[in-house]
Amino acid sequence: MQDTFTKGLAEIVGAKNVLTADNDTAPYTTDWRKQYSGASEAVVRPASTAEVSGVVRLCASERVAIVPQGGNTGLSGGSVPTGRQREIVLSLARMNRIREIDALNDTLTAEAGCVLADLQRAASDAGRLFALSLAAEGSCQIGGNLSTNAGGVNVLRYGNARDQVLGLEAVLPDGRVWDGLRGLRKDNTGYDLKQLFIGAEGTLGVITAAVLKLHPKPTASATAWIAVENPQRAVELLSHMKKVCGDRLTAYEILSRTCVDAVLAQRREIRDPLPGSAWQVLVELADGGASEPLHEWLAQALDTNLVADAVMAKSDAESKALWRIRESVPEAQFGNVKHDISVVVSKVPEFIRRAEEALHAAFPQAPIYCFGHVGDGNLHYNVGDAALLARREEVNRIVYDLVAALGGSISAEHGLGQLKRGEISRHKGALELELMRSVKRALDPHGIMNPGKVL
Ligand code: FAD
Ligand code: ZN
Repeated sequence: MQDTFTKGLAEIVGAKNVLTADNDTAPYTTDWRKQYSGASEAVVRPASTAEVSGVVRLCASERVAIVPQGGNTGLSGGSVPTGRQREIVLSLARMNRIREIDALNDTLTAEAGCVLADLQRAASDAGRLFALSLAAEGSCQIGGNLSTNAGGVNVLRYGNARDQVLGLEAVLPDGRVWDGLRGLRKDNTGYDLKQLFIGAEGTLGVITAAVLKLHPKPTASATAWIAVENPQRAVELLSHMKKVCGDRLTAYEILSRTCVDAVLAQRREIRDPLPGSAWQVLVELADGGASEPLHEWLAQALDTNLVADAVMAKSDAESKALWRIRESVPEAQFGNVKHDISVVVSKVPEFIRRAEEALHAAFPQAPIYCFGHVGDGNLHYNVGDAALLARREEVNRIVYDLVAALGGSISAEHGLGQLKRGEISRHKGALELELMRSVKRALDPHGIMNPGKVL
């Protein structure tokens, strides 16, 4: 028996797009890491902006909370209900049309439910590059990417999700549609409202479409695996490579020995490119034109005593093999205490040194897996094994207090969601928190958009 609320939803999106049976809703109510789970009255799957607007209007009038959901690959528990009030999950998956590609303006207009890899392919088919790239790209959706301001491996050259957007369409918490779908590259006409919704994790409204920037498609790439003595050498080499290679440098990733060893232990087919080195950097250059000159740039950049040893990929297959090591790190050390922090690039070595000292004083046996986007000052910094999860709070205290002492961020890429909602109040000043609450109140006075997340 349907109640009037679910009947009303069915009138807007069609009965088969309102899921209420536990079996049907289960994939939508637990997050990717299976750490957060909450009941939902229904999972609603609209196919158009008008349908999203209708659903939001109905929820607003009934004061039912809305949890927008893309690919549900988020790592902070933002995309699932808390179960603490009446809630629905609003899945954007059926809104997966590319509305327009404007090749001369280098823009692509996509609906929120487009899977990231599909957008990359569409851009490539048009001879362009859509620069956002992350390991979850086969399932995450552009609406989720924008709502988390996702980062990934190309940030060094192209910026994060925020930097890929020219225009936005969003449904406000009262159901009205804000049409900001402009492809303008210059527009100084007051507050940049789209940026409010980007990185808001669904707490201010529902993103339904975006005008995205395209770039020239690189035709050549060069990849190297580099051994460096310590993190200080890694950031000095980064600075050196920027000078030599300019914006041909697209990725600059660091891995501690523990990360490589964890991958080798789990994936027998993977070979260590430089056995025994303490720290390694994976570097990628990309450019138009032929690959020979690019390889020369790379060889020239590596000709410095900052490099202890290095191998350059001689083929696409060799490049992919090097990237496979980096991409295997998250799964090779799964159950432990995870952090996604950033500090200014120049302080990365100090962070790594002081964090290790403090953690090993408290937990002498705990392995530390340090890897990630050192070119952006962003480290995935994971500690211990499953046994240490019970002492997660103590580990977090050490890591986050050091991040604060160095003026860094406790969430560089993954957002606050439910995971870091409590912690953030220790890191932002009272005024900054008050400004954030004022914005939230102005847009969502009844607090129906993704409650229990971010603030
Ligand atoms: P979801 O998980 O569905 O939602 C994320 C948040 O956005 C939630 O708060 C949700 O309510 C909100 N939301 C979703 N869609 C909308 C919408 N249309 N309107 C309003 N709010 C919305 N992240 C990185 O930044 N860099 C990485 O390198 C990276 N690598 C990853 C690797 C793996 C293997 C995995 C599993 C995750 C990784 N992530 C990474 C995290 C995750 O993929 C990103 O946060 C991604 O942007 C989330 O997209 P999604 O569509 O899955 O969003
Ligand atoms: Zn990352």
